[in-house]
Amino acid sequence: MVDVNEKDYVVIVQCDIVKERCSGYNCERAFNERIGGFSAYPKNGYRSLYMTCGGCCGRAVHRKLANLVRRIKKQEGITRDRIVVQLASCITKDNYHSSPCPHLDYLKGLIAKLNLDLCEDTFINESSEKKRKAGVYAASD
Ligand code: SF4
Ligand code: SF4
Repeated sequence: MVDVNEKDYVVIVQCDIVKERCSGYNCERAFNERIGGFSAYPKNGYRSLYMTCGGCCGRAVHRKLANLVRRIKKQEGITRDRIVVQLASCITKDNYHSSPCPHLDYLKGLIAKLNLDLCEDTFINESSEKKRKAGVYAASD
């Protein structure tokens, strides 16, 4: 379990395909209001950075995060243990538009390789959550 109280910097990673049509506003709002996947975060503090996975299969996540880790340490002395990566709900969750990312485990592995802590979900739509719990999005034969 990640203790977000020990973090200073949150990196929100969003699905590159979804971002072709999504501004990312609901992720930003969820972070600003500390709702959904951000409900455990204290209200104040935190720098934040939004990035996409770079497209399937998500391999660019490693390059992008490695770049951040290197630069932020060099420029500001912020170490990787102060950073948390938050995977957006369009990557982690089933919804009306699409299934979770088929490369989710791969993405998690890349982030783990960099020794960065990871949390899941950003904006959580209540009606979608009800449908998920009811199995509405489950595959049918
Ligand atoms: S979680 Fe929602 S708001 Fe955030 S990038 Fe994905 S589709 Fe857009
Ligand atoms: S790897 Fe996953 S998160 Fe990235 S574009 Fe493909 S489906 Fe979206």
